[in-house]
Amino acid sequence: ADISGTGPDAMPDAALRSRVTGEVQALHASFDAGTTRPVEARLEQLEKLRRGIRAENGRLAAALEEDLDKSRLEAAMTEIGIVGQEIAHMQKNLRSWLRPTSLNLGMLQAPSSGQLHREPLGVALIISPWNYPVNLTLSPLIGAIAGGNTTLVKPSEVAPATSAALAHLIRTHLDPEWVRVIEGAVPETTAILEQRFDLIFYTGNSTVGRIVARAAAEHLTPTVLELGGKSPVFVDEDVDLAATARRIMWGKLTNTGQTCVAPDYLMATPRTIEKLVPHLKRAAHAMHGSEASRSPEFGRMVNDKHFQRVLALIDDDKAVLGGTTQADATTRYLPPTILTDVDWGDPVMAEEIFGPILPILAVDGPDEAIARIREREKPLTAYVFSSDKDVEQRFATETSSGSLALGVTVAHVGAATMPFGGVGESGMGKYHGKASLEAFTHAKPVVKKPLKPDTLALVYPPHRGLKKAL
Ligand code: NAD
Repeated sequence: ADISGTGPDAMPDAALRSRVTGEVQALHASFDAGTTRPVEARLEQLEKLRRGIRAENGRLAAALEEDLDKSRLEAAMTEIGIVGQEIAHMQKNLRSWLRPTSLNLGMLQAPSSGQLHREPLGVALIISPWNYPVNLTLSPLIGAIAGGNTTLVKPSEVAPATSAALAHLIRTHLDPEWVRVIEGAVPETTAILEQRFDLIFYTGNSTVGRIVARAAAEHLTPTVLELGGKSPVFVDEDVDLAATARRIMWGKLTNTGQTCVAPDYLMATPRTIEKLVPHLKRAAHAMHGSEASRSPEFGRMVNDKHFQRVLALIDDDKAVLGGTTQADATTRYLPPTILTDVDWGDPVMAEEIFGPILPILAVDGPDEAIARIREREKPLTAYVFSSDKDVEQRFATETSSGSLALGVTVAHVGAATMPFGGVGESGMGKYHGKASLEAFTHAKPVVKKPLKPDTLALVYPPHRGLKKAL
């Protein structure tokens, strides 16, 4: 994916730098004052967030519609609803998750006791993307608040209405001692990244992920990088193809394909492809009609740059559904498109698609599918549809991906009990539910040993007695 700013325009001016410095210093000051430490205060701030989301529900949904043509129902399911579940899950469990856990230090350390304490990191920075701008800003924020941190939020300028709605939500409903927001694009983010944070949580493409990691290295700041990639799907010969097709097309077309865990490309044997394609077409039609442009539940590409980028990936000679002739640049509409006879060297296989295009590639079976996955960068998710447990097990042990989903696409990401994150090129670190608390805290071992009896006397030099014994 390309990024907007490396030229001179990317550089922040002195006024911007000083504004950013002021915001970050205020967050360091309130953290140092201990404002965010008490559990009660964290729960209260989470409750303010919960109520704020409820109060601003209409504003957020309207903004998502304006930026992404996201339907109200989809917004409720994949953005606002998921965040609501995450808050409820955290509110319910935070006290018990924060309770120190005992460590057994073993006979050699006796007498002694150990505990693992979860301590806040300090000032967190959350940089979020445009595709699920509410979910991917507020879900990490839940972890940051629960962890007892203060937080600076930088929403994506690519979804400007949602960025403004999020800024309004944060400024109106949350306390500035806890959370502050700076809207903006590259100059703002560049100025922000010059500051010292205690954790940077970034979601977006891996090119900017590298910029974030470089800036973080300057202050040895830990990072959670939630990146993307090409998530593969393998469909085995013996599965229920109608149900499989529905699950794949739904995952592909949700948010018009602009989903980090969307099934990116599909592999199957030629025999399966022949039988599967009619089911895939039928599934797309069943969800959005024969003209998806008229479907109230099918969105548009976020902007002209992304529209043109994805359009250029479509080879009309290979399209068995959709294609460029049905696309409309004025509304940034791209139809659900299926490409067959795709080669591994085709442009559509060079980068994450992030649009409603499904390329299908022929493989000779699970062996080749596994080998193909292994020769590429590690994806965020891998999908397998098979009724053979051995095949599923082979994908689990022989391929590496952020997560592996068997018989389902995308939906698994909504489970607050499942840690979510990438590996390798698809990112580092995990969040959601308890994993969010773990991401935004330091697990500190606290050990205690009585001074009497002085059992350590045995290990103090000189070791005359010990030497004899050895
Ligand atoms: P984006 O363009 O909104 O960028 C993400 C953030 O980076 C924004 O806040 C933006 O302001 C900032 N940014 C952009 N250029 C920058 C620069 N030069 N320096 C500093 N900051 C900069 O979103 P995107 O990257 O197009 O998002 C799509 C990508 O994100 C896809 O690759 C997708 O797979 C990935 N993604 C991953 C997840 C996940 O949870 N793993 C979720 C959603 C999206």
